[in-house]
Amino acid sequence: MLPIRSNIRDMAGYVPGEQLNDPDIVKLNTNECPYPPSPRVFEAVRAALTGDRLRKYPQPLGDTFRRAAGRVLNVDPDGVLIGNGSDDILTILTRAFVPEGGLVLAPTPSYILYKSLAEIQGARFETVPFTADWQLPTAWPAGGHITFLPNPNSPSGTVVPLAEVERLAAAVAPAPLVLDEAYADFADDNGLSLLGRVPNLVVTRTLSKSYALAGIRFGFAVADPAVVRELVKVKDSYNCDVLSLAAATAAVEDQDYFRETRAKLLATRARLAAELPALGFDVTPSRANFLWCRRADRPVKPLYEELKRRKVLVRYMNYAGYDGLRITVGTEVETDRLLAELRSIL
Ligand code: PMP
Repeated sequence: MLPIRSNIRDMAGYVPGEQLNDPDIVKLNTNECPYPPSPRVFEAVRAALTGDRLRKYPQPLGDTFRRAAGRVLNVDPDGVLIGNGSDDILTILTRAFVPEGGLVLAPTPSYILYKSLAEIQGARFETVPFTADWQLPTAWPAGGHITFLPNPNSPSGTVVPLAEVERLAAAVAPAPLVLDEAYADFADDNGLSLLGRVPNLVVTRTLSKSYALAGIRFGFAVADPAVVRELVKVKDSYNCDVLSLAAATAAVEDQDYFRETRAKLLATRARLAAELPALGFDVTPSRANFLWCRRADRPVKPLYEELKRRKVLVRYMNYAGYDGLRITVGTEVETDRLLAELRSIL
Protein backbone atom coordinates (compact mmCIF):
# COMPACT_ATOMS: atom_id res chain seq x y z
CA MET A 1 0.00 0.00 0.00
CA LEU A 2 1.31 3.46 -0.87
CA PRO A 3 1.69 5.79 2.11
CA ILE A 4 -1.73 7.45 1.93
CA ARG A 5 -2.26 9.84 4.85
CA SER A 6 -3.80 8.03 7.83
CA ASN A 7 -6.75 10.42 8.06
CA ILE A 8 -7.72 9.48 4.50
CA ARG A 9 -7.30 5.75 5.18
CA ASP A 10 -9.41 6.04 8.33
CA MET A 11 -12.31 7.94 6.77
CA ALA A 12 -15.34 6.32 5.20
CA GLY A 13 -15.68 8.84 2.37
CA TYR A 14 -18.79 10.66 1.21
CA VAL A 15 -21.18 8.48 -0.77
CA PRO A 16 -23.45 10.42 -3.14
CA GLY A 17 -27.04 9.32 -3.79
CA GLU A 18 -27.67 6.20 -5.86
CA GLN A 19 -27.73 6.40 -9.64
CA LEU A 20 -29.59 3.49 -11.18
CA ASN A 21 -28.80 2.83 -14.78
CA ASP A 22 -32.45 2.62 -15.81
CA PRO A 23 -34.18 5.30 -17.93
CA ASP A 24 -37.60 4.31 -16.51
CA ILE A 25 -36.68 5.17 -12.97
CA VAL A 26 -38.54 8.05 -11.29
CA LYS A 27 -35.54 9.64 -9.61
CA LEU A 28 -36.51 11.52 -6.47
CA ASN A 29 -33.40 10.92 -4.36
CA THR A 30 -30.85 13.68 -5.01
CA ASN A 31 -32.94 16.86 -5.24
CA GLU A 32 -32.30 17.46 -8.91
CA CYS A 33 -34.71 19.71 -10.76
CA PRO A 34 -37.30 17.65 -12.68
CA TYR A 35 -37.54 20.29 -15.43
CA PRO A 36 -34.87 21.02 -18.04
CA PRO A 37 -32.65 24.09 -17.82
CA SER A 38 -33.58 27.29 -19.68
CA PRO A 39 -33.51 26.99 -23.51
CA ARG A 40 -30.95 29.81 -23.39
CA VAL A 41 -28.52 27.42 -21.68
CA PHE A 42 -28.55 25.14 -24.72
CA GLU A 43 -27.99 28.09 -27.05
CA ALA A 44 -25.09 29.34 -24.93
CA VAL A 45 -23.43 25.92 -24.80
CA ARG A 46 -23.80 25.52 -28.57
CA ALA A 47 -22.24 28.94 -29.06
CA ALA A 48 -19.38 28.02 -26.74
CA LEU A 49 -18.66 24.99 -28.92
CA THR A 50 -17.94 27.16 -31.96
CA GLY A 51 -14.71 28.91 -32.96
CA ASP A 52 -11.70 28.26 -30.79
CA ARG A 53 -13.32 28.60 -27.38
CA LEU A 54 -12.54 25.00 -26.42
CA ARG A 55 -8.91 25.33 -27.45
CA LYS A 56 -8.37 28.16 -24.97
CA TYR A 57 -8.49 28.22 -21.18
CA PRO A 58 -11.64 29.64 -19.58
CA GLN A 59 -11.73 32.91 -17.61
CA PRO A 60 -10.13 31.95 -14.25
CA LEU A 61 -12.47 34.10 -12.15
CA GLY A 62 -15.51 33.73 -14.39
CA ASP A 63 -15.91 37.48 -14.83
CA THR A 64 -18.86 37.25 -17.21
CA PHE A 65 -20.71 35.02 -14.76
CA ARG A 66 -19.73 37.25 -11.83
CA ARG A 67 -21.21 40.31 -13.52
CA ALA A 68 -24.42 38.43 -14.36
CA ALA A 69 -24.78 37.06 -10.82
CA GLY A 70 -23.97 40.48 -9.38
CA ARG A 71 -26.76 42.07 -11.42
CA VAL A 72 -29.37 39.39 -10.71
CA LEU A 73 -28.64 38.98 -6.99
CA ASN A 74 -27.77 42.61 -6.36
CA VAL A 75 -24.33 41.80 -4.93
CA ASP A 76 -20.81 43.03 -5.66
CA PRO A 77 -19.40 40.94 -8.56
CA ASP A 78 -15.98 41.06 -6.87
CA GLY A 79 -17.53 39.22 -3.93
CA VAL A 80 -18.50 36.23 -6.11
CA LEU A 81 -16.28 33.12 -6.15
CA ILE A 82 -17.03 30.51 -8.80
CA GLY A 83 -16.90 26.76 -8.15
CA ASN A 84 -17.22 23.41 -9.84
CA GLY A 85 -20.49 22.81 -8.00
CA SER A 86 -20.98 24.23 -4.54
CA ASP A 87 -19.19 21.16 -3.16
CA ASP A 88 -16.04 22.64 -4.72
CA ILE A 89 -16.76 25.92 -2.95
CA LEU A 90 -17.17 24.09 0.39
CA THR A 91 -13.83 22.36 -0.25
CA ILE A 92 -12.11 25.67 -1.03
CA LEU A 93 -13.52 27.22 2.15
CA THR A 94 -12.36 24.28 4.29
CA ARG A 95 -8.88 24.39 2.81
CA ALA A 96 -8.64 28.14 3.29
CA PHE A 97 -9.89 28.37 6.87
CA VAL A 98 -9.19 25.08 8.64
CA PRO A 99 -5.65 24.14 9.72
CA GLU A 100 -4.64 20.52 10.25
CA GLY A 101 -5.94 19.58 13.70
CA GLY A 102 -8.48 22.41 13.46
CA LEU A 103 -12.18 22.24 14.21
CA VAL A 104 -15.15 22.14 11.83
CA LEU A 105 -18.64 22.66 13.26
CA ALA A 106 -22.06 21.93 11.81
CA PRO A 107 -25.54 21.14 13.10
CA THR A 108 -26.89 17.61 12.84
CA PRO A 109 -28.65 16.04 11.07
CA SER A 110 -27.49 18.04 8.05
CA TYR A 111 -25.34 17.70 4.95
CA ILE A 112 -22.97 14.74 5.46
CA LEU A 113 -20.21 16.11 3.21
CA TYR A 114 -19.00 18.57 5.88
CA LYS A 115 -17.64 15.65 7.92
CA SER A 116 -15.69 14.30 4.93
CA LEU A 117 -14.21 17.74 4.24
CA ALA A 118 -13.02 17.96 7.85
CA GLU A 119 -11.51 14.47 7.68
CA ILE A 120 -9.65 15.18 4.43
CA GLN A 121 -8.25 18.32 6.02
CA GLY A 122 -7.10 16.34 9.07
CA ALA A 123 -9.41 18.40 11.23
CA ARG A 124 -11.84 17.46 13.98
CA PHE A 125 -15.54 17.51 13.20
CA GLU A 126 -18.08 18.32 15.87
CA THR A 127 -21.82 18.33 15.35
CA VAL A 128 -24.40 20.25 17.31
CA PRO A 129 -27.91 18.74 17.37
CA PHE A 130 -30.74 20.87 16.07
CA THR A 131 -33.54 21.41 18.57
CA ALA A 132 -36.65 19.22 18.19
CA ASP A 133 -38.21 21.86 15.92
CA TRP A 134 -35.06 22.18 13.76
CA GLN A 135 -33.75 25.39 15.26
CA LEU A 136 -30.29 26.25 16.58
CA PRO A 137 -29.44 25.49 20.19
CA THR A 138 -28.76 28.52 22.36
CA ALA A 139 -25.12 27.57 22.94
CA TRP A 140 -22.65 26.92 20.11
CA PRO A 141 -19.22 25.34 20.77
CA ALA A 142 -16.25 27.71 20.91
CA GLY A 143 -13.03 27.38 18.92
CA GLY A 144 -14.38 26.35 15.51
CA HIS A 145 -12.34 27.37 12.47
CA ILE A 146 -15.43 27.18 10.30
CA THR A 147 -19.14 26.61 10.91
CA PHE A 148 -21.41 25.23 8.20
CA LEU A 149 -25.14 25.90 8.37
CA PRO A 150 -27.30 24.64 5.53
CA ASN A 151 -30.33 26.93 5.22
CA PRO A 152 -32.78 25.48 4.22
CA ASN A 153 -31.38 22.40 5.88
CA SER A 154 -31.13 18.94 4.35
CA PRO A 155 -32.78 16.50 5.05
CA SER A 156 -35.40 18.51 6.95
CA GLY A 157 -36.06 21.34 4.46
CA THR A 158 -36.47 23.66 7.43
CA VAL A 159 -35.06 27.17 7.81
CA VAL A 160 -33.40 29.02 10.63
CA PRO A 161 -34.62 32.67 10.71
CA LEU A 162 -32.12 35.29 9.57
CA ALA A 163 -32.01 36.85 13.06
CA GLU A 164 -30.71 33.50 14.36
CA VAL A 165 -28.20 33.25 11.51
CA GLU A 166 -26.91 36.66 12.49
CA ARG A 167 -26.69 35.62 16.13
CA LEU A 168 -24.71 32.50 15.21
CA ALA A 169 -22.37 34.52 13.00
CA ALA A 170 -21.64 36.83 15.93
CA ALA A 171 -21.08 33.84 18.23
CA VAL A 172 -18.48 32.20 15.94
CA ALA A 173 -16.71 35.42 14.84
CA PRO A 174 -14.07 36.04 13.70
CA ALA A 175 -14.24 32.50 12.20
CA PRO A 176 -16.54 32.31 9.20
CA LEU A 177 -20.15 31.17 9.22
CA VAL A 178 -20.79 29.44 5.90
CA LEU A 179 -24.47 29.67 5.11
CA ASP A 180 -24.98 26.83 2.64
CA GLU A 181 -27.89 28.10 0.57
CA ALA A 182 -28.07 25.23 -1.93
CA TYR A 183 -31.87 25.31 -1.52
CA ALA A 184 -32.47 28.99 -0.74
CA ASP A 185 -34.15 29.65 -4.08
CA PHE A 186 -37.11 27.58 -2.85
CA ALA A 187 -37.41 29.53 0.42
CA ASP A 188 -39.01 32.89 1.13
CA ASP A 189 -35.87 34.60 2.32
CA ASN A 190 -32.08 34.25 2.14
CA GLY A 191 -28.90 35.50 3.75
CA LEU A 192 -27.58 37.74 0.97
CA SER A 193 -29.14 40.77 2.67
CA LEU A 194 -26.91 40.16 5.71
CA LEU A 195 -23.64 40.29 3.77
CA GLY A 196 -22.93 44.01 4.15
CA ARG A 197 -23.22 44.06 7.91
CA VAL A 198 -22.06 40.53 8.90
CA PRO A 199 -18.39 40.49 7.87
CA ASN A 200 -17.74 36.81 8.68
CA LEU A 201 -20.65 35.52 6.62
CA VAL A 202 -20.05 33.46 3.46
CA VAL A 203 -23.13 32.49 1.45
CA THR A 204 -22.86 29.51 -0.92
CA ARG A 205 -25.20 28.76 -3.80
CA THR A 206 -25.58 26.08 -6.44
CA LEU A 207 -27.07 25.94 -9.93
CA SER A 208 -27.72 22.20 -9.46
CA LYS A 209 -31.22 22.56 -8.03
CA SER A 210 -33.27 25.64 -8.92
CA TYR A 211 -31.44 26.14 -12.24
CA ALA A 212 -31.52 22.44 -13.24
CA LEU A 213 -27.77 22.25 -13.90
CA ALA A 214 -26.59 19.43 -11.63
CA GLY A 215 -24.87 17.78 -14.58
CA ILE A 216 -22.89 20.86 -15.54
CA ARG A 217 -21.40 21.36 -12.02
CA PHE A 218 -21.57 25.01 -11.10
CA GLY A 219 -21.82 26.73 -7.74
CA PHE A 220 -20.57 29.93 -6.21
CA ALA A 221 -19.98 31.80 -2.97
CA VAL A 222 -20.81 35.38 -2.15
CA ALA A 223 -18.68 37.08 0.49
CA ASP A 224 -16.65 40.16 1.29
CA PRO A 225 -14.53 40.89 -1.86
CA ALA A 226 -11.41 40.99 0.32
CA VAL A 227 -12.13 37.42 1.46
CA VAL A 228 -12.83 36.29 -2.11
CA ARG A 229 -9.43 37.66 -3.18
CA GLU A 230 -7.82 35.26 -0.67
CA LEU A 231 -10.05 32.31 -1.62
CA VAL A 232 -9.04 32.71 -5.26
CA LYS A 233 -5.52 31.65 -4.23
CA VAL A 234 -6.88 28.34 -2.95
CA LYS A 235 -9.04 27.30 -5.88
CA ASP A 236 -7.76 25.57 -8.99
CA SER A 237 -7.03 28.31 -11.52
CA TYR A 238 -9.53 26.87 -13.98
CA ASN A 239 -12.03 25.14 -11.71
CA CYS A 240 -14.94 26.01 -14.03
CA ASP A 241 -14.73 25.19 -17.71
CA VAL A 242 -15.87 27.14 -20.75
CA LEU A 243 -19.07 25.13 -21.17
CA SER A 244 -20.18 25.32 -17.56
CA LEU A 245 -19.44 29.05 -17.40
CA ALA A 246 -21.50 29.64 -20.54
CA ALA A 247 -24.35 27.50 -19.20
CA ALA A 248 -24.32 29.09 -15.75
CA THR A 249 -24.29 32.63 -17.11
CA ALA A 250 -27.19 31.95 -19.47
CA ALA A 251 -29.15 30.25 -16.69
CA VAL A 252 -28.93 33.10 -14.21
CA GLU A 253 -29.68 35.64 -16.92
CA ASP A 254 -32.99 33.95 -17.73
CA GLN A 255 -34.87 34.97 -14.62
CA ASP A 256 -38.31 34.61 -16.27
CA TYR A 257 -37.63 30.92 -16.87
CA PHE A 258 -36.21 30.55 -13.36
CA ARG A 259 -39.38 32.02 -11.82
CA GLU A 260 -41.58 29.77 -13.91
CA THR A 261 -39.71 26.61 -12.83
CA ARG A 262 -39.72 27.72 -9.22
CA ALA A 263 -43.47 28.38 -9.24
CA LYS A 264 -44.20 24.92 -10.67
CA LEU A 265 -42.00 23.27 -8.06
CA LEU A 266 -43.53 25.15 -5.16
CA ALA A 267 -47.04 24.21 -6.33
CA THR A 268 -46.08 20.52 -6.49
CA ARG A 269 -44.34 20.75 -3.12
CA ALA A 270 -47.56 22.09 -1.58
CA ARG A 271 -49.58 19.29 -3.18
CA LEU A 272 -47.20 16.59 -1.98
CA ALA A 273 -47.05 18.05 1.52
CA ALA A 274 -50.86 18.00 1.60
CA GLU A 275 -51.25 14.44 0.27
CA LEU A 276 -48.53 12.49 2.11
CA PRO A 277 -50.07 12.91 5.61
CA ALA A 278 -53.21 11.11 4.39
CA LEU A 279 -50.92 8.13 3.69
CA GLY A 280 -49.63 8.15 7.26
CA PHE A 281 -46.46 10.24 6.89
CA ASP A 282 -45.33 12.96 9.25
CA VAL A 283 -44.13 15.60 6.82
CA THR A 284 -41.88 18.39 8.05
CA PRO A 285 -42.93 21.75 6.51
CA SER A 286 -40.32 22.35 3.80
CA ARG A 287 -38.77 25.45 2.27
CA ALA A 288 -36.65 23.34 -0.10
CA ASN A 289 -37.35 21.15 -3.16
CA PHE A 290 -37.77 18.00 -1.08
CA LEU A 291 -39.81 16.75 1.84
CA TRP A 292 -38.62 14.99 4.97
CA CYS A 293 -41.10 12.23 5.71
CA ARG A 294 -41.22 10.02 8.76
CA ARG A 295 -43.66 7.54 10.21
CA ALA A 296 -44.56 6.76 13.80
CA ASP A 297 -46.13 3.40 12.95
CA ARG A 298 -43.36 1.56 11.10
CA PRO A 299 -39.75 1.75 9.94
CA VAL A 300 -39.47 3.39 6.52
CA LYS A 301 -36.58 1.38 5.09
CA PRO A 302 -38.85 -1.39 3.74
CA LEU A 303 -40.94 1.33 2.08
CA TYR A 304 -37.86 2.76 0.40
CA GLU A 305 -36.92 -0.73 -0.79
CA GLU A 306 -40.37 -1.51 -2.14
CA LEU A 307 -40.55 1.86 -3.91
CA LYS A 308 -37.17 1.13 -5.47
CA ARG A 309 -38.36 -2.27 -6.65
CA ARG A 310 -41.21 -0.40 -8.32
CA LYS A 311 -38.73 2.00 -9.93
CA VAL A 312 -39.39 5.02 -7.73
CA LEU A 313 -36.15 6.05 -6.07
CA VAL A 314 -36.25 8.19 -2.92
CA ARG A 315 -33.54 8.75 -0.30
CA TYR A 316 -33.61 6.62 2.82
CA MET A 317 -31.74 8.24 5.67
CA ASN A 318 -30.91 6.89 9.05
CA TYR A 319 -28.40 8.84 11.04
CA ALA A 320 -28.21 10.69 14.33
CA GLY A 321 -31.24 8.64 15.36
CA TYR A 322 -33.41 9.93 12.54
CA ASP A 323 -35.04 7.38 10.27
CA GLY A 324 -36.92 8.88 7.35
CA LEU A 325 -37.40 9.33 3.64
CA ARG A 326 -36.21 12.44 1.88
CA ILE A 327 -38.35 12.79 -1.21
CA THR A 328 -37.42 15.22 -3.97
CA VAL A 329 -40.28 17.24 -5.49
CA GLY A 330 -40.64 16.00 -9.06
CA THR A 331 -43.02 16.87 -11.87
CA GLU A 332 -46.77 16.46 -11.41
CA VAL A 333 -46.62 13.18 -13.37
CA GLU A 334 -43.78 11.85 -11.20
CA THR A 335 -45.72 12.89 -8.11
CA ASP A 336 -48.82 11.02 -9.34
CA ARG A 337 -46.67 7.94 -9.79
CA LEU A 338 -45.04 8.22 -6.35
CA LEU A 339 -48.40 8.65 -4.63
CA ALA A 340 -49.98 5.80 -6.60
CA GLU A 341 -47.15 3.42 -5.66
CA LEU A 342 -47.32 4.46 -2.02
CA ARG A 343 -51.10 3.92 -1.96
CA SER A 344 -50.64 0.50 -3.48
CA ILE A 345 -47.90 -0.49 -1.02
CA LEU A 346 -49.64 0.86 2.06
N1 PMP B 1 -25.13 21.73 0.01
C1 PMP B 1 -26.18 20.95 0.29
C2 PMP B 1 -26.92 21.15 1.58
C3 PMP B 1 -26.58 19.97 -0.62
O1 PMP B 1 -27.62 19.16 -0.34
C4 PMP B 1 -25.87 19.82 -1.83
C5 PMP B 1 -26.27 18.77 -2.84
N2 PMP B 1 -25.82 17.49 -2.57
C6 PMP B 1 -24.77 20.64 -2.06
C7 PMP B 1 -24.44 21.60 -1.12
C8 PMP B 1 -23.86 20.51 -3.26
O2 PMP B 1 -24.45 20.73 -4.46
P1 PMP B 1 -23.58 20.92 -5.77
O3 PMP B 1 -22.19 20.46 -5.50
O4 PMP B 1 -24.28 20.12 -6.80
O5 PMP B 1 -23.61 22.39 -6.06
